[in-house]
Amino acid sequence: MRAESPAPSARSPIVNAMTVDVEDYFHVSVFDGLVPRHQWDRMESRVCANTERLLEIFADSNILATFFILGWVAERFPALIQRIARGGHEIASHSYAHRLVYDLTPAVFREDLRRSKAVIEEATGIRVCGYRAPSYSVTPRSLWALDILIEEGFLYDASIFPIHHDRYGIPLSPRHAYVIRRECGQLFEVPASTVRCGSMNLPIAGGGYFRILPYGWTRWGIARINQIDGKPAVFYMHPWEIDPEQPRLRAGLVSRFRHYRNLDKTESRLRTLLRDFRFSTLESVLGAIDLAPSGRPAVAALPYIW
Ligand SMILES: [Zn+2]
Repeated sequence: MRAESPAPSARSPIVNAMTVDVEDYFHVSVFDGLVPRHQWDRMESRVCANTERLLEIFADSNILATFFILGWVAERFPALIQRIARGGHEIASHSYAHRLVYDLTPAVFREDLRRSKAVIEEATGIRVCGYRAPSYSVTPRSLWALDILIEEGFLYDASIFPIHHDRYGIPLSPRHAYVIRRECGQLFEVPASTVRCGSMNLPIAGGGYFRILPYGWTRWGIARINQIDGKPAVFYMHPWEIDPEQPRLRAGLVSRFRHYRNLDKTESRLRTLLRDFRFSTLESVLGAIDLAPSGRPAVAALPYIW
């Protein structure tokens, strides 16, 4: 075991959420425009092999995870989605076509959401009740999407990132799971994890922040959330992040850096992370969160009216 890893007995008893956005390397938003949607079927697909590798890693560590599945992937590879579900993991939606929510009209968003839910449920026979938007694209411009999620029967959303970022985020929104109440019903919101530094929320748990920054940043951040906040962390990643052999797309310098940096290190980092902390599905973590310290759900108003 690495010197920096705590002994298993020293691990926090808090169970964190492990989440995976199941998409291929050419679906990511930083490559929008490079591979138009009508060309997706012509690309070499690597999502099945990469996701199966992740399933092996999770099995080695005896953990369950939540898989937010792109409907486009579920439609083409239903056997992959069935394997994930058979492993006891939670199945949720990552939209159908990976379009940014704030670029859609409410009607088009509803149609995309219904299509993703239908193809995933058809593949697995399991009701889908969780959603994460492509690139966390529920922002002040697209809060109407939360009403549509409630109306379409979703129980939780994991799309609001409480940070400043060039393409997403609601920096003043709550950092830990909360309930959003609307006239049409209510929804749990489960943000990806951040740590509070001064007046800023800094992302610590997943994606490029896990892959590009040193592992010690994630380890420090999750330990702080568990020990200081007394809360579970919500970690996220993608199957393509453990695939250093994936075809290289001709993107701009910043996009290439964000997407390709440290692909060859992510698997070993992930294995270290799974030794250092406990993880399970978002569903089970949500069930264990003390949202009702006074017998009532913790309801947090978002800092915007919609
Ligand atoms: Zn995505």
